[in-house]
Amino acid sequence: MRKLTALFGLLVIASSPLHAAGPSAVASIDRSLWPDPIDSQPAFDRASRAELLAFAHALAESEQLSDDALRDQLKLKDLDHGAVEHMRTVYWHRLATNYALAATHCTPTEPFCQGSTGEAAFRQAAVSFTVAAGDRYAAWFQAAQAFHHTYLDELLRLAALFPRISSEVDTYSARELSGNELADRHFLLTFDDGPTRAGGNTDKLLAVLRGQQLNATFFLLGEPLQSRLQQMPAAQLARDYQGMCVGAHGWEHKSHSAWPEWQGSVERSIALVHDNLPNSFVPLFRPPYGQRRADSGAFFEAQGLRVALWNIDSQDWNAKVDADQVKQRVLTLMLLWRHGVILFHDIHAKAQTAVPWLTGQTQGSGVQWIDCHAFPPS
Ligand SMILES: [Zn+2]
Repeated sequence: MRKLTALFGLLVIASSPLHAAGPSAVASIDRSLWPDPIDSQPAFDRASRAELLAFAHALAESEQLSDDALRDQLKLKDLDHGAVEHMRTVYWHRLATNYALAATHCTPTEPFCQGSTGEAAFRQAAVSFTVAAGDRYAAWFQAAQAFHHTYLDELLRLAALFPRISSEVDTYSARELSGNELADRHFLLTFDDGPTRAGGNTDKLLAVLRGQQLNATFFLLGEPLQSRLQQMPAAQLARDYQGMCVGAHGWEHKSHSAWPEWQGSVERSIALVHDNLPNSFVPLFRPPYGQRRADSGAFFEAQGLRVALWNIDSQDWNAKVDADQVKQRVLTLMLLWRHGVILFHDIHAKAQTAVPWLTGQTQGSGVQWIDCHAFPPS
């Protein structure tokens, strides 16, 4: 028995590159510390400016660390300096762009509104960003500092491992989709790893989405889809997914950068999804853990597929965070990144409460949950 447990432990480690690369701490925040509702475009922009300045402040602070200190902080054995520097440059550009959008209509007397908005001016504002004790935003500020330090570490960890371990943190070409293609305030909901057995979390989530008059893109795995098709005819399952979009997530939930049979996994899972759910099929492939080979672009192009990554990770698969933490994390990241593809997992229950909460919180804010058929935008 002990031998079996030890062997099982080994297998789990060997087959779980995500958990090997996963964050040691997951960022979440109590949104009730933000003292305003987010029920109008100016209110969304104000909260967005605050998150942008807080994240950028953490980014500026991290640049003061030596590589050795950063490596220790990220709990890594080694660190790719060039990859970290590259992602920092990318983030500064995205943050400054987002801040300019969030500050378009504000006047300098409003909270978190700096006069000028170029990248250099934004960087300067971020370095000196603080909120005085006693200010009505002071409690938020304290929590936000912790959130953004932890969240930045999540991203820098992925950056430091890239491309040795690939992930959603960066793309290999413009054919790979990350969520950054979307317009300001536009978000796409995506759900991975399903379907569950009939009556399970996938079905419950589909009912929640219909109740909200939303659709989403589901990235299905070959094995559970095959099991589900043994439970019910394809036509019935197609009705369950009607109005949604379905792409593939591989035959098995394995890293598609390390698996010798990864091309067969893509072909088989795409064929199963396409042949059984033709009306909902979209030619998108999402590699498990975001892991795909640097030279996989020609294969996907030849298959007529695009790799679909994400830029907002709900971490809903993670036992360290509950549904309440997941929804508050996602809202904070929506304010920070202002657009994108949100990653949830329909096999877990957390999204069933997170999604209605997010739509409620952002009502009137100008946030648009895009039709999955409009992705990627042309
Ligand atoms: Zn997955």
